[in-house]
Formats: sequence, structure tokens, C-alpha cells
Amino acid sequence: MGCAIYGGFMRLRHLAMALSNLPPHPQRDVSLEQYSTEGDFAARWIAEIVERGDLEEETRVVDLGAGNGILGIGCFLAGAASALLVEQDPQCLHEYEGVEWLIGDVKEWSGTEVDLIIMNPPWGVQIAMADRPFLEAAFNSEAEVIYLLHSAKATHIENLAKSLEWEGEVVLNGSFRLPAQYDHHRSHQGMTQVAVWRFKRN
Ligand code: SAH
Repeated sequence: MGCAIYGGFMRLRHLAMALSNLPPHPQRDVSLEQYSTEGDFAARWIAEIVERGDLEEETRVVDLGAGNGILGIGCFLAGAASALLVEQDPQCLHEYEGVEWLIGDVKEWSGTEVDLIIMNPPWGVQIAMADRPFLEAAFNSEAEVIYLLHSAKATHIENLAKSLEWEGEVVLNGSFRLPAQYDHHRSHQGMTQVAVWRFKRN
């Protein structure tokens, strides 16, 4: 299991630092919509999950579209029993003691042996509906709770969730820096508003 450093031993700032020091996402493949989460935001998000009682010693976490694994590894450091990182881009893979990788398409994941899903998937900006297989994998899985980061502008998520019998609310807002490849404004780095959703089964 993770070493529970969030709880007693490690404050939010330290979790943020540990996550900021992970190998950066290579962000080479524009079509895979690789917008990575920053350490500070990931740590705030994970603190929120812990405070809500959704992450405990026995919690098995799966991170879909994991990138460098920042979200799944963050949950593991916060004390989760296990973390599986599902990622299509093999360039993202790095050894991290205690966590497992599934290098492949999200559709290859079985949806089993999971309590908590955390994900910042492609938003479907470059390729329409690229987020769809992620939403379907999560809502059709055995998870009890799902945390999803998406563009704050996305309106399709709640309806899909409802149709598959999940109830959601936004639990965190923030702004996200888009990588240079996606930033069409030269004068400043593009920022975009994001929302973190929490879904529970109806
Ligand atoms: N979760 C990370 C990365 C977010 S970017 C973070 O928050 O920093 C979305 C990730 O999904 C990218 O790493 C991209 O390579 C991956 N991805 C895109 N399509 C995928 C698919 N069909 N199956 C698995 N991973 C995919």
C-alpha cells in the first residue's frame, strides 16, 4: 500500500512538491491531447478526495489516461492500497515503486478491481469525442466513486453520467495552463478553466 504520507506525515505542500518532481509528461503527441496536471493542483485535488473520505487504506485506485501518473501516484502517496496507471503513450512510462502500469488504450482496461477512478482524460478538443471511451470505461466499471477533470465548458458529462446511473457534482474549480502546442495565442500562455467532478452511483 501507499505510505500514507499525506495524512500524518506529509502536508499538502510536500505532496505537491513530490508530484512536481515526477518525470514530466513528454507531450509529444498532439492528437492524444496531453494536457498535464500541475503538482499544486493535483495535490489540492487529492486533499479534497481524502477529506471527503473517498481514499482510505484499502482503496484501489485506477488512473485513466495517466500521463506521467501524477494523479494515480498522488493517490498512492496519499495512502491508497494500490494504483494502476492506464496510458496509451509508452513514452510516459517510468518506474515508480509500488504502482503498476497498463500501457494501452483505455478500452483494454477490464473495469474491475477498482474502488476509485481518477482521471484527466483527453477533453475531445483535438478529436471530437476522444473523452467518450474514458467516460464509458469509468461509468461502466466496478468503481464506487469517480473523480474527473474536464474543461469547465463541458456540458455533456452530467447527462451521460445520469443515463448510466451516476450522480455528479463539481467539487473543485481551477485554471489550467495549456502546453505550447495547443496555445494559439503567442503573447501569453493560454489558460483555460477546468472543473473537477465527483460522481457516485445513484
Ligand atoms: N492524467 C495526466 C495526463 C492527462 S493528458 C495528467 O493529468 O497530467 C491525457 C492523457 O491521456 C495523455 O497522456 C494521453 O496520452 C492519454 N490518452 C489519450 N487517449 C488515450 C487512450 N485512448 N487510451 C489511453 N490513454 C490515452
